[in-house]
Amino acid sequence: MSDPLDRILEVATAAGRAAATVCRGVLAEAPASPDAMAKLGKEPVTVADYGSQAVILRAIAAAFPDHGVIAEEGAEHLRANAGEAGSEQIVRLVRAATGDDGADFDRVCAWIDHTGPAEAEYTWAIDPIDGTKGFLRRDQYAVAIGLLRAGRPYAGVLACPNLPVDLDAPDGPRGVLFVAAEGRGCTRVPLDGGAPAPARVTPDATLAAARVLGSVESAHGDPALVTAAIERLGIGGGFVRYDSQVKYGVVAQGGAEIYVRPRSRPDYRENIWDHAAGVVVCREAGGRVTDLDGRELDFSRGKKLTENRGVLATAGGELHDAVVAGIAAVEAAAG
Ligand code: AMP
Ligand code: MG
Repeated sequence: MSDPLDRILEVATAAGRAAATVCRGVLAEAPASPDAMAKLGKEPVTVADYGSQAVILRAIAAAFPDHGVIAEEGAEHLRANAGEAGSEQIVRLVRAATGDDGADFDRVCAWIDHTGPAEAEYTWAIDPIDGTKGFLRRDQYAVAIGLLRAGRPYAGVLACPNLPVDLDAPDGPRGVLFVAAEGRGCTRVPLDGGAPAPARVTPDATLAAARVLGSVESAHGDPALVTAAIERLGIGGGFVRYDSQVKYGVVAQGGAEIYVRPRSRPDYRENIWDHAAGVVVCREAGGRVTDLDGRELDFSRGKKLTENRGVLATAGGELHDAVVAGIAAVEAAAG
């Protein structure tokens, strides 16, 4: 009998590719049709967020009807805000990305709202566009398809349509897919052709040479804490900002050694879809992911990481413990 994980990765990878096609399609049409990029509400959310979620959940509902789903968007808001142009566009882009000419607006909405059973061994945690603000700036964003098994991150596909294939050649081709699963390692695939290769974190990373990643949006973290920790620990590789779970991918491929995400405010709890896929990608590349206190992230509590304080992903080893200790020392000094 074949391993169910083979089918899981096949479906998630194809879904990630289709979702990337939708996102790129919205960007390509934006100059001719500015409505496509209209923010459909107070939170930045576009036709691309909904189109991406529709194609992902279309695939999951068909292949794994007995799996649960927790995804960021809901169709009610799309129905209320899409208008005629948005409805036409989403159907057209979903059809083009899936080859499914039977897709109409009601079906697209039904896919977006697919949740599967509430109690299931497998639950998908999906952010159809993580980093919508980066997407709107035509900068970094990620399609994040995570899978929890019995409440633990088990498999993940991160499509990063705008990530340079070679980080040192930002003017070269862009688009990278990270595919990872428990016991299978992490594979990095150029989105538009090219050989898949294993992704590995930087081996034997040191504080002196470590490069640190954080959010573009200062409001999503605590920049003063990060700056103080970098200083205290003598971290010497510099600080780079990226939107979205692209940060997990960059650590996974050895492009940086530390992604630190302090709580933006005491009551903020992270969404599971902002981390599930990225955690598997980073972990399977040899990295380590915990909260700022060094505790395992607890994905078993529903939509939020209610039991955790911030997130820390590193290249692993002693580096991880050193950063946890450094942050604790900075916080203790600050009172
Ligand atoms: P990033 O691009 O890494 O800053 O992460 C983007 C994600 O941050 C979005 O998908 C939001 O779910 C999430 N987010 C929104 N507000 C906050 C906040 N106040 N603190 C932390 N994360 C947030
Ligand atoms: Mg997100």
